[in-house]
Amino acid sequence: MTKVAVVTGGTRGIGADITAALVKDGYKVAAFYFGNEEAAQACAKATGASIYKVDVTRYQDCMDACVQVEKDLGSIAVLVNNAGKTNDGMMHKMGAEAWDDVISTNLTSCFNMCRSVINGMRERGYGRIINISSVNGQKGQFGQTNYSAAKAGMLGLTKALAMESAAKGITVNAICPGYIRTEMTGKMKPEILEAIVKQIPVGRLGTPEEVAAAVVFLASDKASFITGSTLSANGGQYMS
Ligand code: NDP
Repeated sequence: MTKVAVVTGGTRGIGADITAALVKDGYKVAAFYFGNEEAAQACAKATGASIYKVDVTRYQDCMDACVQVEKDLGSIAVLVNNAGKTNDGMMHKMGAEAWDDVISTNLTSCFNMCRSVINGMRERGYGRIINISSVNGQKGQFGQTNYSAAKAGMLGLTKALAMESAAKGITVNAICPGYIRTEMTGKMKPEILEAIVKQIPVGRLGTPEEVAAAVVFLASDKASFITGSTLSANGGQYMS
C-alpha cells in the first residue's frame, strides 16, 4: 500500500526537497502551498506530487484540505509541518501584527494541521508527524522574539503530542535546521553570510537535501523508537 504524506510549504525551498525525497521514497505526496503558484506548478511537474492551495493559519481550511487529500490519495500516514515565515524586528519596535503573523504561520499552523490528522492516525494506529523548527527556537536569535518563540513552541508541542500519541503507534519529532542554502539565505548580504559560516564548525551552510534526508528517516519504520525528539541539523553551530 502506498503511504500518503502531507508537506506544508511543500512546493518551495526546503519543503520542495522534502516533497521530492518523500516521492522518491515511494510516498504519494500532497504538497500544500500558499501564494507562489509558479513554484507550486513547477514542483508538481518535477515530482508528480499533488498540490493543494491551503492557508495553514486557518483551522477550518486545514481540516477541509486534509479531508480532500484523504478522498484523493488515501489515509494520511505522514505529516510534515514545514510552512513558516519570518517577520523580524526587535521587541521594542515590533507591532502586534508581526507577532501574530509569525506565531500563526509557524506555530498555530502546526496545531491546525496536527489536529486535522490526529484522529485518523489514532484510529489507524499509525502516524508520523515531523515538525520543522529551527536552531533559533533552541538558542534564541536577536531580532526574532516572535520566530524564536514560535519555533520553541513547536518543540513543546512535539514533546506533549508525542506523549499523547506514543501508545497509538504515532511518533512526533522535530528537526531544527541551522542555516540552509535556500532563496532566503541567498538574499542575505555576502559578508553577513560569510560571518555566519565562520560560526558553523563544518564550515558551510546546510542543504535542503540534508534536511529532507532527516525527514525521510524520521518518517520511516527504522525510526519507530524515536519520538518526542529534536534532531539538530546545523553543522555543529549549536549543540544542545
Ligand atoms: P521559504 O520561505 O523558502 O518557504 C516557506 C514555505 O512556507 C513556502 O512554501 C510558503 O508557501 C509556505 N507558507 C508560508 N506561509 C504560509 C501559509 N500561511 N500557508 C501555507 N503555506 C505557507 O522557507 P524555507 O524553505 O527557507 O524554510 C522552510 C521551513 O524551515 C520553515 O519553517 C523555516 O522556518 C524553517 N527553517 C529554515 C531555515 C533556513 O535556513 N532556510 C533554517 C531553519 C529553519 P508559498 O511558496 O506558496 O509562498
